[in-house]
Amino acid sequence: MKTIGLIGGMSWESTVTYYEILNKEVAGALGGFHSAKILMYNVDFAELEENMSNGYWAGNAVILADAATRLEKAGADFIVIATNTMHKLVDEIQKQINIPILHISDAAADAVKCDNIRKVGLLGTKFTMTQDFIKSRLSDAGLEVVIPDDKDIELVNDVIFNELCLGKVLDSSRKEYQRIIDDMKAKGAEGVILGCTEIGMLIGDKDSCLPTYDTTIIHAKAAVKMALA
Ligand code: GLU
Repeated sequence: MKTIGLIGGMSWESTVTYYEILNKEVAGALGGFHSAKILMYNVDFAELEENMSNGYWAGNAVILADAATRLEKAGADFIVIATNTMHKLVDEIQKQINIPILHISDAAADAVKCDNIRKVGLLGTKFTMTQDFIKSRLSDAGLEVVIPDDKDIELVNDVIFNELCLGKVLDSSRKEYQRIIDDMKAKGAEGVILGCTEIGMLIGDKDSCLPTYDTTIIHAKAAVKMALA
């Protein structure tokens, strides 16, 4: 079994889910007392959040490349960055290390295409929804991506940073997300990618008129597949 180098803490609420799925999937595959070999570097999310708010992405690249380098030195075989948004920096981080990074969008695109879906909604932070680092990767995989309108982009983003990353799960926000998914369905989306690792705390298949693709679950399962390959 390979050792997974997990960069977590963005936020730690969703890293808990990663940790749980990684271990459960390994136990499921190998049985008995088996559990995942994980090295984890948990960042202080306050530093990264401040840099994002100030548009200081270079600062986050330094923090995350440092984390990845430490994990490589400690013996990780590959890196899992446990957030969609920080994949904006994946190329800069990859340049600093000699082990591969398992990209979150590739696993998500594979899962969506496996269900024969071609047009998909994307929920995430405003960076993820409005910039290209995730969307272009999904388009390159042959998917057409639908995002909410400008007002709802702000709403989805605010719920992530003001509620979910702080462990608050509110019914009122779930209803807003349901309304936004309804809108994406009306625009032709056949499924919705939960492209932020905390959204699964709020919404899942049972709450959604479209099938949901939770990047936390998909990414963690892909990591186990890679670890056991
Ligand atoms: N965990 C979130 C994501 O998947 C947002 C927090 C962050 O900015 O890293 O995008």
